[in-house]
Amino acid sequence: MRSYATEQRSLLSDYLSSRPDVYLTAMEVANALEPKGVSRSSVYRNLLALEGQGQIVRSAGPKGETLYRFCGERCSDHIHLQCERCGRLVHLDEEETRAVAAIVSTRDGFELDATRTVIYGICEDCR
Ligand SMILES: [Zn+2]
Ligand SMILES: [Zn+2]
Repeated sequence: MRSYATEQRSLLSDYLSSRPDVYLTAMEVANALEPKGVSRSSVYRNLLALEGQGQIVRSAGPKGETLYRFCGERCSDHIHLQCERCGRLVHLDEEETRAVAAIVSTRDGFELDATRTVIYGICEDCR
């Protein structure tokens, strides 16, 4: 049997994975899950946990608010580019990520954390 904590986390996971390309604030997520009996503190705790696992990308919105976007396991191994105007996310492939990591590592042996690396800019459509 699944524990209460596991159940709460899986409700959160399901909710986020059904909205893969939407940016949500923790407040929006909490409001949506409250009717399902997921507590606010559980939402905040699990957002952090999922972010730690690379399943969630956290970014700053136009007003400086914290936004979360679900990306799942497949997004834990590469760098993302994010458009600051429309929020569009571009996924570098593994080879491109390795190339960037190689450049960075020649500087003081810096080890890139690809899971959390987002390069901000303006996408082609918005330029
Ligand atoms: Zn990705
Ligand atoms: Zn854009």
